[in-house]
Amino acid sequence: MEQHHPSIRQEAVALLDRGMANRAVAERLNVPRGTVSWWRHEARREQGGQGEARRSRLCPVCDERPLDRASYAYLLGLYLGDGYISHYAKHRSPSLLVTMDDAWPGLQDAAEAAFRAVFPDNAICRQRRKGCQNIKVYFKHLTCLFPQTGPGRKHERKIELNGWQQKIVDEHPWEFLRGLIQLFTNTLDTVGVEWRRANAKNISVAKRASVALMDAHIGPKY
Ligand SMILES: [Zn+2]
Repeated sequence: MEQHHPSIRQEAVALLDRGMANRAVAERLNVPRGTVSWWRHEARREQGGQGEARRSRLCPVCDERPLDRASYAYLLGLYLGDGYISHYAKHRSPSLLVTMDDAWPGLQDAAEAAFRAVFPDNAICRQRRKGCQNIKVYFKHLTCLFPQTGPGRKHERKIELNGWQQKIVDEHPWEFLRGLIQLFTNTLDTVGVEWRRANAKNISVAKRASVALMDAHIGPKY
């Protein structure tokens, strides 16, 4: 193909954008019609790629991009329970990582599905680790979605939900609790209460010493 000055290509793409036909552009700029149609193809591909990249940067908080609220409630529970947001200088975007135990492959899939629903335009990766899998996404606006991120360990910080987060949790309380249940079990571990998972939904605290601990520190509801 004959080499054309980039300014001619730019002019052609501008004319095509304005709706001019390939043949008219070719005649006007004295360029073969095949070249114009190739430029049109390339320009569409580039614009399409940019569209995708732009979408993957859109934020449900800053840009009011639609958010799958039920999946977000679940993911918020997972994040507060066992998730981790890190920001390495060498990466442009922070990452959210959730670790899911191999004992519960169905929950690993549920977590991945929630990632895909909340971040539909971002790549989700799953890393196999010993006894567990990490599910991870890079997203520039993670701290908009999870403003609870901050220095130090989550359970040593004051965690408060923002108004819009509380609204979503109120709408989808069971999704939130399903995610959060891991926080419960991890925290039971740190205070020395022995527990076991009776099934996917129930955590059982049955040992007498553990029940006594719960009674002493939490007590009955009143
Ligand atoms: Zn944002």
